[in-house]
Amino acid sequence: MKQDQPRPTPRAGIMDIEAYVPGKSTAPAGVTKVHKLSANENPLGPSPKAIEAARKVAAKLEVYPDGSARRLREAIADVHGLNPANIVCSNGSDEILGLLAQTYLAPGDEAVFTEHAFMVYKIYIQAAGAKPIAVKETEERADIDAILAAVTPATRIVFLANPNNPTGTYVPFQEVRRLHAGLPKNVLLVLDAAYAEYVRRNDYEAGIELAGSSENVVMTRTFSKLGLGGARIGWMYGPAHIVDAINRVRGPFNVNATAIEAGIAAIRDRAHIERSVAHNEKWLAWVSEQLTLLGLRVTPSVGNFVLIHFPDDKRHSAAAADDYLSARGYILRRVTAYGFPNALRMSIGTEEAIRGVVDALKTFLKS
Ligand SMILES: *Cc1c(COP(=O)(O)O)cnc(C)c1O
Repeated sequence: MKQDQPRPTPRAGIMDIEAYVPGKSTAPAGVTKVHKLSANENPLGPSPKAIEAARKVAAKLEVYPDGSARRLREAIADVHGLNPANIVCSNGSDEILGLLAQTYLAPGDEAVFTEHAFMVYKIYIQAAGAKPIAVKETEERADIDAILAAVTPATRIVFLANPNNPTGTYVPFQEVRRLHAGLPKNVLLVLDAAYAEYVRRNDYEAGIELAGSSENVVMTRTFSKLGLGGARIGWMYGPAHIVDAINRVRGPFNVNATAIEAGIAAIRDRAHIERSVAHNEKWLAWVSEQLTLLGLRVTPSVGNFVLIHFPDDKRHSAAAADDYLSARGYILRRVTAYGFPNALRMSIGTEEAIRGVVDALKTFLKS
């Protein structure tokens, strides 16, 4: 096609966006057994009750879902002790993050996040025409003083992944409160607590209290890391005026019928969630220790994954390790785009997968 012909052009800034590249899910040809450890999925799978609920709704897929996902909001509210009117459900929490950017950012505005933060923030900030501001972390952890120092009169949103992906580090809640206290009242603080269920620390909070008592804080959550990544269910909890704004912008049926029914069944299956969290607690600690014994540096993680750093020599680099592991069916996540060219992120998979990776890396590092 001739380039001098007029044709539709995206808004300024859209073509500067680097599209999100999900983790690999396939192994090289010839590998028979594949362990996907690249997307922080639940190795225990979905709740059997969610599977059953999804099966049931399949027979009635001609019916539109309830556009407000009322029963799902009520189930979430019930489990967490919240008012369902302060919840918005979404097609994964990614959607809610995008809606927040679209609703509160305009060209000329700035939005702040940390240098190794979850990548979708930057994408949605740019998609809204605003300026992404990445601030330095300290020891692979969000630095509250650095975030506060980056706030200008143009700042409209601060995104904080707590815990963060791909580092797995978290900010104690006293620090989050200090961040909130230091922000101007017109800046929206988005607490992305995608891994909240997995965190086992006394000084951690997902943000329910703060979002429930402030006019400028929302907490986002997801069902994806607990076994329903494919169903795409996320939610936001926050003040009424933000819920009202988001409800005007979101698609009228943004959560599909299967997601609603599977989500209700899943959040009520507390035993499945407890099993998933217990599995993670055990194998996260084990694998962190084993990899450290192999001489690899592991960023201390409270999530359902670990960030593994590789030696400087080319033969034992993250890229070489990725090739070696992939050839054996272990699919990890390259994190160069997150500012870690020599690290791999690994989900806490099944015992078989986790032991397999440790054994394979033992041989790899000796080679
Ligand atoms: C996985 C993840 C999400 C979003 O997941 P959805 O599948 O869209 O709900 C959000 N934030 C972080 C930090 C994540 O790792």
